[in-house]
Amino acid sequence: NVYSFFHRTEMSRAWVKKAMDIMPGGVTANIKSFPPYPIVMKSGHGAYLEDVDGNEYIDYLLAYGALLVGHNHPKIKESIVRQMEEDGTNLFGTPHEREYRLGKRIQSYYPSMEMVRYTNSGTEGTLLAIRLASSYTGKQKIAKFEGHYHGGYDQVLFSIHPDDQNAGPAHAPKPVAESKGIDPNYEKNIVILPFNDLKGTEAILKAHKDELSAVIIEPMQGGFIPATRSFIHGLRKITERYGIILIFDEVKTGFRIGIGGAQSFYNIQPDLTVLGKVIGGGFPIGIVGGRKDILMECSPSRSANLLGGGTNVLFHSGTYNGHPTILAVAEAVLDILEEDGKAVLKRTEQLKKELEDLFRKRGIPMNALGEGTIFSIVLSEKIVKNDRELQTTNLSLRKKIDYLLLNEGIYTKPMNRYSLSVAHGEREIERTLEAYQNVLYKKL
Ligand code: PMP
Repeated sequence: NVYSFFHRTEMSRAWVKKAMDIMPGGVTANIKSFPPYPIVMKSGHGAYLEDVDGNEYIDYLLAYGALLVGHNHPKIKESIVRQMEEDGTNLFGTPHEREYRLGKRIQSYYPSMEMVRYTNSGTEGTLLAIRLASSYTGKQKIAKFEGHYHGGYDQVLFSIHPDDQNAGPAHAPKPVAESKGIDPNYEKNIVILPFNDLKGTEAILKAHKDELSAVIIEPMQGGFIPATRSFIHGLRKITERYGIILIFDEVKTGFRIGIGGAQSFYNIQPDLTVLGKVIGGGFPIGIVGGRKDILMECSPSRSANLLGGGTNVLFHSGTYNGHPTILAVAEAVLDILEEDGKAVLKRTEQLKKELEDLFRKRGIPMNALGEGTIFSIVLSEKIVKNDRELQTTNLSLRKKIDYLLLNEGIYTKPMNRYSLSVAHGEREIERTLEAYQNVLYKKL
């Protein structure tokens, strides 16, 4: 089996070796790498990827969930061409109509977003949300949950997959930096909370309530471990009581847990929301929105200097913010989801159920854990509630299955989630189940 991976991906191996000359590890993002070497892709169409060796895969990585509209959707292509013809520019660097139009459409699905700002990634989005909360409350500390990812910068790059030794007890986790080179001073301003443990969370928030500006949360950890309803409603109440801003990081869950994201699923109004991924249809975007009184922190009418900054206003800028081509794509993404979004939800349910049946028949305990159009294969009897519980599941078997599936033409980065797109139809589901059948019965 190992041999067959090497044999099928010879060109990938050669390419990565060559790329190591100019890029550390041969990659442009650490996450793109996995042992023995990442598979190098050449093209994507609909639900499919083709690698440099000419192997075809059904793509379930979908660029870490970003491609709910699949690869190369005709309406996305058309929106790009039409925008360039209509507007005659790639970029204005000024306000323009699409910024308003898309904002209003987003608001119709996310009514908690009374006002919006556009950024160029999810990372930039959470960065702005956190600064908004600090600016509004006049406080510096932020609280995040163990196991939750909000972007790769110093303020929040703590306790995503903390090693047990330094991570403290489950009900009161300690911050563990996830990178070399982080200024240790950031550790003083981060508070780590236990996900899906309301008692533990409440005790920590109470102890820090006078210093905390915000709690930031992935309502579904990693996009697939749902907050329990009692937990997330409890968190909303506690943050309200203590005057702490509640930020929903819906970069992954936005549009994937149904078009209205996790906040619609749970029927909760966060104070601030960050969207990204799906709405960009494959292009870089972030959208930050929320309560008007908080968003107004960055209104330049507040005696700003020529940069739009100064001590009375929250500085937020970016050459590409509200990029007209990407906003045109975003409008096309909404058009596509309004038409085909419900079908992807149904198809995901079908795939999850059939995979669970298959594993059950094979005698391997498995939950296809997640809501909406994203889930993960979790090999355990019980339904896990957070990262620590996930670590107790059969990760080595999961990894083995993932590698074997690559040989069968099913792509997700090993140990990653499964996302579906509008291009994943009956045929793709059938082929996926056949591949699983082969792996579970013939290759394990
Ligand atoms: N928040 C969450 C929940 C994410 O999943 C991600 C990306 N994986 C980010 C923030 C960062 O987004 P980006 O990669 O667009 O900067």
